[in-house]
Amino acid sequence: MKHYTREELDRYRNKDMNFILRLMCRVHLCVCPLCRRQMTDLQHDDALLTKLKDSLNMLKVEPNVATYQKICSTIHDLVNKESSE
Ligand SMILES: [Zn+2]
Repeated sequence: MKHYTREELDRYRNKDMNFILRLMCRVHLCVCPLCRRQMTDLQHDDALLTKLKDSLNMLKVEPNVATYQKICSTIHDLVNKESSE
């Protein structure tokens, strides 16, 4: 059985996939606990980002694109490091 990558699951989640592929992915998720776990992780990342944004709001950090991008790339590195282990 071929498993879905994080990127593929992310595309499925964002509906950035054609109908047939999405259907296949949906069926796969129903039968595969491994890929369901990956999907949960992706949702967890989203929750983490939302939490971080909320914290920034609480700190009253001025919206600054450079800061935001720096934070995003830091998180991206962390997530990549985590998933490569
Ligand atoms: Zn799978």
